[in-house]
Amino acid sequence: MFLDVHELAIHRLPIRKSYSPGSLDFRTTEFKQVETLAVRATAELVDGQIHIFGNLHTRLELNCARCLEPVIEEVSRDFDLVYRPVTWVPREEDVQLRLEETEIGFFEGDGLFLADILAEQVNLAVPMKAICRSDCRGLCPHCGANLNYEQCSCEARTVDPRLASLERFKLEWFKKH
Ligand SMILES: [Zn+2]
Ligand SMILES: [Zn+2]
Repeated sequence: MFLDVHELAIHRLPIRKSYSPGSLDFRTTEFKQVETLAVRATAELVDGQIHIFGNLHTRLELNCARCLEPVIEEVSRDFDLVYRPVTWVPREEDVQLRLEETEIGFFEGDGLFLADILAEQVNLAVPMKAICRSDCRGLCPHCGANLNYEQCSCEARTVDPRLASLERFKLEWFKKH
C-alpha cells in the first residue's frame, strides 16, 4: 500500500490491513514474523507532511539470548509518525507545536510505502534480548551443551580464567624443566 500525498490531500485514509508472514521485508535475520501482522491506522496530510498514527500487532520468533532456542514474542506497538518531504520548509508555528510530540521521518517524491513504515516499527518494537524463560541456564561455554536439557561434565572442571592461564603457564614450565 502506497501512501500518496495527492490522495491524502483529498481525504484522510483509514487503514485496516493484514500482512501474512513473509510479506514484509524486515531487513534482518534476528527475528521472523510467525503470525499475521495486523495494522489499524489513519493517514492524513498535515501541511504537506504525512501524519500516520495507529497500532500494529503480531508475533515474532527470536532466539533465546542464552540458549539460542526459538522464543515467540508478542509485539504490539502504538505509533504516531510524521514524514516530511525532503524539501519541506516549516510555515506555521502552530503546526510545528502540534507535531512536536511525534517522531519525524522523511520521504522523497509522492509519498511512501506503508510496508516500509511497518517494517521499521516492528524493528523498533523487538526486545533487545529475548530469554526463553527466566531461569534459562543457557549453553555450556566449553562444550555448547544446552544446560536446560543436559548436565555436561565441564562444570566440575571449570576454573577461573586467570587461574587457567596460570595452570597453562605451570604446565609449560614443567615441560621445559
Ligand atoms: Zn533459553
Ligand atoms: Zn560442557
